[in-house]
Amino acid sequence: MTHRIAVIPGDGIGNEVMPEGLRVLEAAAKRFDIDLELTHFDFACCDYYEKHGKMMPDDWFEQLKDFDAIFYGAVGWPERVPDHVSLWGSLLQFRRQFDQYINLRPCKLLPGIKSPLADRKPGDIDFYVVRENTEGEYSSVGGKMFEGTEREVVIQETVMTRYGTDRVLKFAFELAQSRPRKKLTSATKSNGIAITMPWWDERVVAMSDHYPEVSVDKFHIDILTANFVMHPDWFDVVVASNLFGDILSDLGPACTGTIGVAPSANINPEGTFPSLFEPVHGSAPDIAGKGIANPIGQIWSGAMMLEHLGHADAAKAIVDAFEAVLTEADQAVLTPDIRGLGNTATLGRAIAARLEG
Ligand code: ATP
Ligand code: MG
Repeated sequence: MTHRIAVIPGDGIGNEVMPEGLRVLEAAAKRFDIDLELTHFDFACCDYYEKHGKMMPDDWFEQLKDFDAIFYGAVGWPERVPDHVSLWGSLLQFRRQFDQYINLRPCKLLPGIKSPLADRKPGDIDFYVVRENTEGEYSSVGGKMFEGTEREVVIQETVMTRYGTDRVLKFAFELAQSRPRKKLTSATKSNGIAITMPWWDERVVAMSDHYPEVSVDKFHIDILTANFVMHPDWFDVVVASNLFGDILSDLGPACTGTIGVAPSANINPEGTFPSLFEPVHGSAPDIAGKGIANPIGQIWSGAMMLEHLGHADAAKAIVDAFEAVLTEADQAVLTPDIRGLGNTATLGRAIAARLEG
């Protein structure tokens, strides 16, 4: 079976880390005999916007909808195009139109990388944040009254549906079930948010009936963020609404050291539409053009893509390969953000070579 992948490097260092992401992806495909068909696209980036006055062509949906996955670099260049324009014109369109209702981020401390949390070693931090990606607090329901007067009132509603909530919970429970610890933590705030969050808690309990092997706990979001920092070893799979998940999915990777290694997936689990895989970091204009960006975020996103496409063995081999390179910690190979003297290409090549054996 051929997997059709849409490749979109995007902006800034997206163009530098993508070739290394592809190098490692192709090495894994060769070793595991996986048939990949890569198609490159030059839209969904600020260069395209400057030429065409929009981030993507009008028929982008038609062009992309039949791919099995989208492999994305980074989008945005605030000095050239305002972030709300570049983001809303590309990534957020993908998330919505392709119903990528799961945002999945592994938070794993890697060998050779120093956590900002004192005395944390690989193995101490190894969990997933599962964020609801399509509804919840980020709705556009609401309005303003008496604007510009002393009586000004501003309202924005949270919209949670049973359909939307149950499907993200189901994904999170399935993930927890598949992991050795089988533990699920729910982010809530039912002591302060009196309608939606007690209901979220009820939906968690209802879903837990279908997963008797999974142990479940919940924390209010305020103490949960504190526990990410104080006790990251407590967590295995953490599930959260859109806003809470947004916060946790930045905090989690931050606890594991450099932003340059963190991957993410925007998933449509049913496969009705393509899922999208991209590093957590942005286009990093401050280092773009220097060839020193860490490619591991892109490479690891590629591993998540292979896993999503049914190749867990190849995905694991990629993670093993970059963990081995990080363990050896050859300074000449590593990028400067992890105290190396090498560059994007030296690190990408070392990981690909390791994979080729
Ligand atoms: P966005 O809003 O698109 O997420 P941002 O401004 O929040 O962008 P990044 O573009 O991710 O953030 O950059 C944040 C900082 O991290 C910058 O100093 C950047 O140089 C650094 N950085 C980001 N990605 C990498 C990488 N792959 N390797 C090394 N440093 C990186
Ligand atoms: Mg950012």
